[in-house]
Amino acid sequence: MGRIDLTRRKFVTGLIGAGAGISLAGCDRERPVARSAALELPQVVKRGAEDYEVWRQSMPWQMRKPARYPAAIMRPTTVAEVGDAVRFARREGLQVTTRSGGHHVWGAMLRDDGLLVDMSRFRGVTVNPADGTATVGPAAWSDRLARELAAENLAFPVAHCATVPMGGYLMGGGLGINGDEWGPLACFSVIGADIVTADGERVTANADENQDLYWAVRGAGHGFFGIVTAYKLKLYPLPKAIRVNAYIYPVARLAELGDWLRGAAADLPKTELLVLLLENPDADPAAPPAERKLCVVRPAVFADSDEEAERILRPLAEHPLAKEALFSTGLQATTMQRLLEESIDYQRGFGFGRYAVDTLWADPPQPALDVVAQEFLQAPARKSHVVVTIKRNAALPDDAALSQITDTWIGAYAVWDRAADDRANIDWLRQTSAALQPFAAGHSINELDTGADPGKIERTFSPEAWRRLGAVRAARDPDGIFHGFLESA
Ligand SMILES: Cc1cc2nc3c(=O)[nH]c(=O)nc-3n(C[C@H](O)[C@H](O)[C@H](O)COP(=O)(O)OP(=O)(O)OC[C@H]3O[C@@H](n4cnc5c(N)ncnc54)[C@H](O)[C@@H]3O)c2cc1C
Repeated sequence: MGRIDLTRRKFVTGLIGAGAGISLAGCDRERPVARSAALELPQVVKRGAEDYEVWRQSMPWQMRKPARYPAAIMRPTTVAEVGDAVRFARREGLQVTTRSGGHHVWGAMLRDDGLLVDMSRFRGVTVNPADGTATVGPAAWSDRLARELAAENLAFPVAHCATVPMGGYLMGGGLGINGDEWGPLACFSVIGADIVTADGERVTANADENQDLYWAVRGAGHGFFGIVTAYKLKLYPLPKAIRVNAYIYPVARLAELGDWLRGAAADLPKTELLVLLLENPDADPAAPPAERKLCVVRPAVFADSDEEAERILRPLAEHPLAKEALFSTGLQATTMQRLLEESIDYQRGFGFGRYAVDTLWADPPQPALDVVAQEFLQAPARKSHVVVTIKRNAALPDDAALSQITDTWIGAYAVWDRAADDRANIDWLRQTSAALQPFAAGHSINELDTGADPGKIERTFSPEAWRRLGAVRAARDPDGIFHGFLESA
């Protein structure tokens, strides 16, 4: 095992968000298609129009574009226009789907024949430090929100990638930065939402008004039946000392490391525990997978001083397994901003490519981690990776559709470049998912491959939440104006 290639340590400091000045390479800060003059045209484009395909292809964030064709795409700029769009769709007998940032990897926003309402102009962020809340548009990126909050010494469990917007992220749960301390999921910090309903009416949903919509918007994901024009968020004090470490191991040790971290988690307040399986992009491609691929244990602590950070993570650092790491970075200072910008860069190209994803909440975790480690060694593409989150806080409130989690979340990401390799990579993902299913106690609705097994949608929710979701949908959208869950990817 000593042959694992660790020669480029900048790669490691980059991946933990503690490097210096690494850019947002691969993130869609500006997608090529978004620079097209076509996007400056009027705000509705119909199928058959000259620029339709440019618009359509710009809807999914990634390069793999599903072959689904809405009748029209509309990009409103005001809440009144969102209402007009829904009423128009109702009159014309069109179903509606919504997009905020297009990050849904299976392209839930692209459906055949309906009206796609693209909310990408709703990017506003208004922070109210006096009561510790913010109002944000659904297209506000994680990075912008974190930056505006940091200016007020505030924070929110934004996504781990700078470009992920609040829209779909919050609606489907949101596994966010410092998620256990501010969570366990980001959607539980949604304290209100402005929603355009299936009638085209604007309503506010919170704990006191329209409680059924408030319940549903916190976890229904792309099964939601309305368009969110703004979220109201509960904020948290910005930690003064964010520190990260990274310990590197052979991939085969994943399950053993998972046991260690689950055992340690309860005594690690203010800490986020991530484990990444990835390939070192600098390793010799001809080397056997077990030498090119790495397992990185990445604890991040959101403390108020260096001393506190060091004290919290000391039990991990002093554990025998920490000392068995092939390499460790030591505790590094970082910020929310750097975590956002740099942690996504670990593959040097994350963001430019073709993606497929599947996720699960594991129970029992140990065999699931063994399976995913073995499968990862077979992944055909070098950018493919696995993310494991060990949660110390898995307590769920009862006023949210999100209703099924465990202490171990596993996300498998196939990432590749050429369309010719689609089949091989999707096959790898599906083979990995099938092997993991015996250990699945739920899934993340935002990152779910329903193509191989649409039954996973229902298993994402508790039986009670699934029944209630159907009842709320029937009451709020009896004519099925909104498309609902994407069943075949
Ligand atoms: C690079 C990358 C990093 C990611 N990192 C994380 C992470 O750290 N944590 C995490 O939990 N997830 C993460 N995700 C997954 C992400 O949360 C989902 O893809 C989510 O759907 C993205 O939101 P979006 O607004 O871009 O969704 P879109 O793709 O725009 O929309 C997906 C669906 O969400 C619904 N929707 C979106 N906006 C609205 C709206 N305004 N009103 C009503 N319905 C709406 C619609 O049903 C739509 O079909 C990541 C994804 C990518 C690609």
